[in-house]
Amino acid sequence: MIKLENVSKTFQTRNGAVDAVKNVSFEIETGEIFGIIGYSGAGKSTLIRMFNGLETPTAGNIQLNDIAISNIQGADLRKARQKIGMIFQHFNLLWSRTVAENIAFPLEIAGVKKAERERRVAELIHLVGLDGRDKSYPAQLSGGQKQRVGIARALANDPDVLLCDEATSALDPQTTSEVLNLLTDINKRLGLTIILITHEMPVIRKICNRVAVMEGGKVVELGEVLTVFQTP
Ligand code: ADP
Ligand code: ADP
Repeated sequence: MIKLENVSKTFQTRNGAVDAVKNVSFEIETGEIFGIIGYSGAGKSTLIRMFNGLETPTAGNIQLNDIAISNIQGADLRKARQKIGMIFQHFNLLWSRTVAENIAFPLEIAGVKKAERERRVAELIHLVGLDGRDKSYPAQLSGGQKQRVGIARALANDPDVLLCDEATSALDPQTTSEVLNLLTDINKRLGLTIILITHEMPVIRKICNRVAVMEGGKVVELGEVLTVFQTP
């Protein structure tokens, strides 16, 4: 369970203060696929970056199960972060490493031994449907395949939560659909909580249970997808 209480984030810039997130409170249940939608600049990225400590709230609290993620630092934060996977619009893969090496990277950082790493990487490659591509380099893969590597890497340390930051925005509709199907499948099979941000309504409609609509740093609507996006 993720609980946000009165979370705000203000950036100080040369042109003054920017209130990116304003007094946001809501809860996300374990096993849910939760969407956050809004136009560019609405505060979506800033909000989910606070879920894994990439940004720290200026005010308020974020609780991830029994951990106050917004109040921890250093080794504690690094340990907590292993339980939160993240995927990105532009995949953020290491281009000089193979598929298998990209997926093994977070396992190396976590100090997992070689034999166990190899076992885990093979399992993950199979899970995301990339059998036979372990020795390929990212440049040899399609966009959809690159995102599958991103997903496998994000799942390497068996996280409780997967954060998806515009994860299908660089993909064509057919590939988007395939990646969303994979995410739904992983959600069902692993019981993993998935939080995704997007500016695309069809993405929310296709896989989310609930959605929060953000505007100007605030959550202006929140509820079941079918209720929030009712078509008359
Ligand atoms: P979204 O993900 O919905 O596009 P963001 O969270 O990226 O929105 O941005 C929300 C607001 O915060 C925008 O006005 C953006 O310019 C500002 N912002 C985001 N990150 C920073 C930063 N590191 N420094 C200053 N302003 C930022
Ligand atoms: P973006 O469009 O955000 O730059 P990419 O998918 O192109 O995203 O790149 C993801 C990451 O890989 C970035 O950190 C980028 O610096 C790095 N990268 C991209 N292309 C190359 C390359 N040819 N060689 C090495 N690193 C690269």
